[in-house]
Amino acid sequence: MNILPKIFIPEHADDGVVREEHVDRDEAHDEPRRPDEDHQRHQGQPDAHAQGGFEKPDAERAHRDGGDVECGQFHGIFPDDCEERSINPTLKKRPNSQHSTYRRGERGMGIAFEPAYIRLMRSGELAERAELAWRHMAECDLCARYCRLNRLETAKGAVCRTGERALVSSCGAHFGEEAPLTGRRGSGTIFFSWCNLRCVFCQNWEISQKGAGQAVEPDEIAAMMLNLQREGCHNINFVTPSHVVAQILAAVLIAARAGLCLPLVYNTGGYDSPEALALLDGVIDIYMPDMKYGDSEKARKYSKVRDYAGVSRAAVREMHRQVGDLTLSKNGVAQRGLLVRHLVLPGDISGTEAVLAFIANEISPDTWLNLMDQYRPCHRAAEYPPLDRPLASREFEEAMKLAERYGLGRLDRKGVMRWSIL
Ligand code: SF4
Repeated sequence: MNILPKIFIPEHADDGVVREEHVDRDEAHDEPRRPDEDHQRHQGQPDAHAQGGFEKPDAERAHRDGGDVECGQFHGIFPDDCEERSINPTLKKRPNSQHSTYRRGERGMGIAFEPAYIRLMRSGELAERAELAWRHMAECDLCARYCRLNRLETAKGAVCRTGERALVSSCGAHFGEEAPLTGRRGSGTIFFSWCNLRCVFCQNWEISQKGAGQAVEPDEIAAMMLNLQREGCHNINFVTPSHVVAQILAAVLIAARAGLCLPLVYNTGGYDSPEALALLDGVIDIYMPDMKYGDSEKARKYSKVRDYAGVSRAAVREMHRQVGDLTLSKNGVAQRGLLVRHLVLPGDISGTEAVLAFIANEISPDTWLNLMDQYRPCHRAAEYPPLDRPLASREFEEAMKLAERYGLGRLDRKGVMRWSIL
């Protein structure tokens, strides 16, 4: 029985040929459209473009356009991010997932990379995952809150306040993400409204805790993804996705059938359930979890959540098992793997040493790490000293020394650059 909602199935959905809109590669288009900005998710508002929200894309048009041009990845043309790629030569090992796909390019040069979900789409497993995920919403265990209520009937009682339809606050090319995601043409971000955390210092609280955004169907999310691909973005970046895994899988199925071939980024607060991660295995190419706290008591006080440290550690272990350390294209753009974010909070509320020790000792010293220094008091932070003050430069300096002591050398360049001019 197909219980998926109204979804958009392209006519050529089952013909096994993947297509995409051709991406213009002229030099002007390759230039960044605006200067880099500090990373803002959870610690700042989306960029100006994103703040302007979005117009609901035309799914019919996305289908029509997306189906016009065959994807060069499979025909030796390699447009844009379907271009020929190579594994980061600095890494000793490849991702450890059985779903990884690196193969000889048709032009006989380098190794072609294929996003993981394409194979699942061809085998029919992606459709099964999408349907299974939708069923999970009937007794929801799609994040570690385990509300176990029927979201298909009501959002009442759900911590994430999200029922059958996801809400999106904005989408667009974003230039404030980590360097390997941003590249030259930006990360194609889709910001979901609501969240399964309740951080008292959240700078996006109007989106994450008040639900600012528009309800959308999976076919509309798919159209957003195809539009971002057409714009030339390097990846599709799902921001705050933990509570909308089912809607994302339904949308990925539609978009993949219509020619999506960009890596998918799962940009999460880190409070993800094993059930959700099992559904995403072989679908997500790049996991980017926050590790917000090293101590669950702090998490309980400041993000209103139980056992955050245990849940996030289990989640990061599973993410790393699925995708391995981060691999980059020859141009330095992320293809597959794990990036971890850790926002250093005043007074060591974030438990930085415990987090870094875990990453170095139990995940990998080759983990790509964004150590973030941009904390500013926001939302209800004034009620929770020492969160009522910005991070002191000496506090971030101490965090950087800890990273060095634990041998974590793959630090995102933005954090490093900011620190070097403090
Ligand atoms: S996604 Fe998480 S917060 Fe939302 S209903 Fe399911 S278990 Fe609850």
